[in-house]
Amino acid sequence: MEPSVNPVWQQHLFLGSWQSGEGQQITVKEPATGEVIARLKSATPADVDKAATIANAAQKRWMAVPFDQKAEILRKAALLLKERANEICGWNIRECGSIGPKADWELQATYEQAQMAAALPMQPNGQIFPSNIPGKRNYWKRVPIGTIGVIAPWNFPILLSMRSVFPALAMGNCVILKPDPKSAICGGVLMAEILEDAGLPAGVFHVLPGGPDVGERLVQHPLVKMISFTGSTAVGRKIGETCGRTLKKAALELGGNNAMVVLEDADLSVASSSGAWGSFLHQGQICMQTGRHLVHRSVADDYIKRLSARAKNLVCGNPWKDQVHLGPLINEAQACRVEDIVNRSLAMGAILVTGGKRNGNYYEATVIANVTPEMPVFSEEIFGPVAPVMAFDSDAEACALVNESPYGLAAAIHSRSTERALRIADQIQVGMIHINDQTVSNEFQVPFGGMGNSGNSGRFGGPANIEEFTTSQWISVMEEGIQYPF
Ligand code: NAD
Repeated sequence: MEPSVNPVWQQHLFLGSWQSGEGQQITVKEPATGEVIARLKSATPADVDKAATIANAAQKRWMAVPFDQKAEILRKAALLLKERANEICGWNIRECGSIGPKADWELQATYEQAQMAAALPMQPNGQIFPSNIPGKRNYWKRVPIGTIGVIAPWNFPILLSMRSVFPALAMGNCVILKPDPKSAICGGVLMAEILEDAGLPAGVFHVLPGGPDVGERLVQHPLVKMISFTGSTAVGRKIGETCGRTLKKAALELGGNNAMVVLEDADLSVASSSGAWGSFLHQGQICMQTGRHLVHRSVADDYIKRLSARAKNLVCGNPWKDQVHLGPLINEAQACRVEDIVNRSLAMGAILVTGGKRNGNYYEATVIANVTPEMPVFSEEIFGPVAPVMAFDSDAEACALVNESPYGLAAAIHSRSTERALRIADQIQVGMIHINDQTVSNEFQVPFGGMGNSGNSGRFGGPANIEEFTTSQWISVMEEGIQYPF
């Protein structure tokens, strides 16, 4: 069944309620076919000003809503995500080129985020500290930040926006979401409909699909007190600079170039399966993608054989029409970027083991051997279905190679010796390390985030959400005032 287009989206923006917009129209093109499948109203920087004013006024009322009512709205939103699953997943497939299982997983993960957020408002939100002044009590409590801007990418547009939106709302903030124009239906307007239908009061949540100009205005706006950004390191750095200048809190979740280390005692069947999943899932368009396969020299040939056999079995095609393993990349520019990274590396002496062909927006699952650290396929974030393999000779060399990347998001280590894998993990500077697994892992209850060029230590999930989406206030009480020397 075709996912239906709501005619309201063409002329209206969700500024806490549906209002007619002045911006241009966004033409939504299906990456698999190039067909125009919808048109949406784009926001302008002036819409950011309007949304920030509305949100700022609504926030005072929203923070005063009793905790059980906030929880009820978020639980209802979770139920609506499930009720509208076919429609949301249909859009994820057609708008973003996702395969069905990826769309299903993303919806389930978003549902879990909503459920977790619904439990936040009832958590204790403060502590009492002692005082050395008799009769004085020190209360310390978590309070909302105010209006929070959420800027999201197109690769997992629902989860990567709502993992900030839900907990931010739960903690009493208003939110202005700027989805990427390439994913603004499933990662934007559908979420506006769901939160509105769940009973969120008007003015509390806004969705402004638009490009960098809209994002920049959101980051600069004085009424927006925090930016939660997920996207590239280059854009994250710019946003961080502006937030630094305007003294605004910034949670930056950025790019990655994630290594999987395969030791000579690893189960190569498990390791090659992990490697294939980590590199090829969602056509490699994942920040946690396994971008470098570092394999002990004594098992490298065997590993490459197993990995390329898995890659050759993967079928590439239109995920809306057929059951495929790999859909299209988001657009031709991205596919050409991947092709260029591979071709430049082959010209430097890398060996193409399998794949390596582009057809429009599609790129085959590709395995490359003989990789060295100087090659772009090692040093750059690929964000495409390419698995570069490099051999190493010692654990120390493997650690040095992992740490050679300025990124620090995720890593994986395969070994039958957990002790040895843990010793390596201790020497690796990344935010998330998975032993005998692959690099793409996200569980809603565990704090998620990177180090180095992968972020500024913002964390999502579990207990980190309370800290991330609140600030704190110290209130002291003296039963009776005292006389100071002045
Ligand atoms: P991007 O940085 O180009 O865009 C991300 C968002 O920022 C989009 O909504 C875009 O419109 C907006 N934007 C662009 N320029 C802006 C500006 N000057 N000011 C404000 N907003 C601006 O990233 P992308 O290409 O959409 O996504 C891919 C990147 O995101 C990859 O590098 C990937 O690794 C990273 N990513 C990181 C995580 C994580 O959790 N660490 C998750 C997914 C993706």
